[in-house]
Amino acid sequence: MMFPLLMICALAFACLGVEKGPLPLVAEVHASSVVYHGNRNSHVFHQPGCRYFNCKNCVVVFSSLKQAIEAGFRPCKICKP
Ligand SMILES: [Zn+2]
Repeated sequence: MMFPLLMICALAFACLGVEKGPLPLVAEVHASSVVYHGNRNSHVFHQPGCRYFNCKNCVVVFSSLKQAIEAGFRPCKICKP
């Protein structure tokens, strides 16, 4: 009894994946690329591509510039986010 239901679910999921896959994927990639890393010690935040973006103290993640500034962080002088 469970098998046909699972099949329908799997098919529906596959259809959704094929139909809507590319768009959310692009949005997701775009959204995740707009992320800033804040240095918890110096309270400076960096944009992706900065040499300090993945530094060991840069563990505070912000999804927007505004969020970082509101949290009391200041933009890096090198990458100028
Ligand atoms: Zn930087």
